[in-house]
Amino acid sequence: MKNVKKIFLFLIFFAFLALGLSIRYTIGYGMFVEGQFVGVVRSPSEADAITEIICAESHASALSTTLYPRLLVRDTFTPAAEVSENTRSAMGIETEIITLTEPIPFGTGTVEDAGMYQGTEAVTTEGVDGARTVVKQITKMNGSILQEKVLSVSVSAEPVAEITTVGTKPRPAGVGTGDFTFPLSEITVSSNFGYRWDRQHNGIDFAADAGTAISAADSGTVIFSGPSEGYGNLIILDHQNGYTTYYAHCSILYAAVGAMPEKGEVIAGVGSTGNSTGPHLHFEIRKDGAPQNPLEYLPGIV
Ligand SMILES: [Zn+2]
Repeated sequence: MKNVKKIFLFLIFFAFLALGLSIRYTIGYGMFVEGQFVGVVRSPSEADAITEIICAESHASALSTTLYPRLLVRDTFTPAAEVSENTRSAMGIETEIITLTEPIPFGTGTVEDAGMYQGTEAVTTEGVDGARTVVKQITKMNGSILQEKVLSVSVSAEPVAEITTVGTKPRPAGVGTGDFTFPLSEITVSSNFGYRWDRQHNGIDFAADAGTAISAADSGTVIFSGPSEGYGNLIILDHQNGYTTYYAHCSILYAAVGAMPEKGEVIAGVGSTGNSTGPHLHFEIRKDGAPQNPLEYLPGIV
């Protein structure tokens, strides 16, 4: 009878001991990924939940995961965030945050101006690129990029659009477009603008056969047509925009004073009249009466 009581007391003692142990100790799982220890988790399903997320972000179909059950003190589990982090590093996954400054290309626009002639246009506001700051999270696995995520975009400078003002006013006859073209269809420069033989050459000489058609370098109004001393037979066009053009040494003049030739229209023929040693066209562009270098106004010579 005494023994029964003893056994009973022992049973109670062991029951309390087991209860005490179970409160303090539990079964956990040491988790290994790709052969590396990544932490201690509570259950296989917790390990699955962590690896599932990482499989999805790394596009891996499965991870080489092993779990080892062990008895351990309850509060020695590894926090899930740390297990995830260790799993990523075991797989060679790295995350970095980068900050970039990118240009924002400027746009373009046009504005009509009824005060400007049709066919004329000018850039009235220069375009300026803007800038934005982009913060990105880049996830890499063994050096190659798995994922790029834009975390934030902030505009540090708005772009300024390039504005072109386009004329809409109908251009009357006798008024220039503002752009010049060559007065001959074939160009051979025989003497340039500037000083030669100690005197200023107010234009440019183009060699051409006698009779070759000379056309208006821009639309304009004929204000002179006839012989003029050293110029020989001369036509002066007033483009009514500050510019005049001179066509000298002509053999024949087709346009009379008051005529309003359009740009490219034939006005005379090449000759050797006046102070000339052979057939050529002496051509001048004057701005407010001052001779200019025509090559600065004409399209490039090929
Ligand atoms: Zn000349």
